[in-house]
Amino acid sequence: MSDSRLPLSRPSLGEEEIGEVLDVIRSGWITSGPRVKRFEEEFSRYVGTRHAVAVNSCTAALHVALLAHGMGPGHEVITSSMTWSATVNMIEVAGANPVFADVDRETLQITPETVATAVTERTRAILPVHFAGQACDLEGLAAIAAPRGLKIIQDAAHAVGTEFLGRRIGSDGVTACFSFHPIKNITTGEGGMITTGSDELAEKFRLLRFHGVNRDAWSRYGNVDSPRYETVTPGWKYGLTDLQAALGIHQLAKLDGFIERRTRLAELYHAQLASIDGVKPLGRATGTSRHAWHLFVVTIEPDRFGCDRDRFMQLMAQRGVGTGLHFTAVHLHSYYRSRYGSGPGDLPNTEWASDRVVSLPLFPGMNDADVFRVCEAIGAVKKESAG
Ligand SMILES: *Cc1c(COP(=O)(O)O)cnc(C)c1O
Repeated sequence: MSDSRLPLSRPSLGEEEIGEVLDVIRSGWITSGPRVKRFEEEFSRYVGTRHAVAVNSCTAALHVALLAHGMGPGHEVITSSMTWSATVNMIEVAGANPVFADVDRETLQITPETVATAVTERTRAILPVHFAGQACDLEGLAAIAAPRGLKIIQDAAHAVGTEFLGRRIGSDGVTACFSFHPIKNITTGEGGMITTGSDELAEKFRLLRFHGVNRDAWSRYGNVDSPRYETVTPGWKYGLTDLQAALGIHQLAKLDGFIERRTRLAELYHAQLASIDGVKPLGRATGTSRHAWHLFVVTIEPDRFGCDRDRFMQLMAQRGVGTGLHFTAVHLHSYYRSRYGSGPGDLPNTEWASDRVVSLPLFPGMNDADVFRVCEAIGAVKKESAG
C-alpha cells in the first residue's frame, strides 16, 4: 500500500481504447479522418452545440479561437492570472495584450466585478478560465460583454462535463476550448476541441487548423476530382489524428462515470479534511450545477498548518503521495513582469492563492482507501511540521 506511490493523476484507459487504436492502425488511415469526424460529432452532441472542431491541444484551440475572433495588435483580452501559462501565452502569441482580472478567494474564478474594473476602450474579449471544474459566472460576464460588443472565449480545459445553471459548458453556441491532455477529465494523449454554434466561425477554425487551405473549394466548384487547392490565409498544422480520436471516442462515453467517481472521492476528501486545521478545500461556485471535479485544490495556511505549501508538497512526496501546483500567478512570471511591468500587489487574491494552492490526488482509478491514505499523510505532515 504505502510503499507504492500514489500519483496526482493517472488516465483511465481500457480495452475499448486499446481495441479502437488497433482498428485504426489496421485500417491504414492514421491521421485526421473518420474517427476524428465521429469524435467531433459525438462531442458536439454531448455538450449540446452545432460544431466541435478537434485540434491537437487546448493551447492550439485557444490560439485558433483568438485569431478567428479577430484578436490582434492593439486589442486587450481580459483573463485570469490563476491559470496555466498557455491561456495567457496564446493571447500574446495572437498579438493582443492580456489584462488580468483578480479571482475570488473561495473559488479562484474571475468575477464580473473584477472583470468590470479591467475593461478599457481597447478591450475586445473576455477569456474566463473555468477553474478546477467549476464554472465562471457566465451570466455576469455576458452582462458586461454584450453591451460593449466584447467576445467571450472560454478556457474550458478543466470543464469537460461541467454545467452552469443546468447547461453544459460549450453549449448555447459559445466558443469554448477544451483539453484532452492526460491529466484532464478525458484524454487523447494530447488533444483539444473548440465548440461554436456559428457556421462561419467553425469554418475559420477548420481553415486555421489546416494550413489555411480551403479543401472544401473542390466540391464548391463541383469538381470533386480536381487536384487543385487554395491557400486562403496562412494557417497552422493543428489537427488531431485518428489514433488520438480513437481514445477520445471511448473516453467521452465514459466521462459521466468518471465524473461520478470524482464527485464521490471529492465528498470523501471534504469529510476527512474538515478536522485538519490549516487545510481548506475551495468553496463552491454559485451557478455551477455540475462540478466536473477536474482538480481537488486546497489552500495551505502556513501559520495554522505548520509549514508552507512548497514544504507541504515535499513532505507529501516523501510519503509517496504526489501533489500538483495549479497554478502560480502568470502575471508574476518573468516574461509578463518584464513585458508589462506587472508584479506583487497587482492581484491580491490571485497572489494569495498562488502561494497557498496545492492539488491533491484525484482520478477515477482511485479507491476510497487512497483518499484516506492521502488524508493520513496530511495529518502526519502536519504533526511533523508542528514538532
Ligand atoms: C491544461 C490547460 C491548458 C492547455 O491544455 P493543453 O491541451 O495541454 O494545450 C490550458 N488552460 C488550462 C487552464 C489548462 O489547465
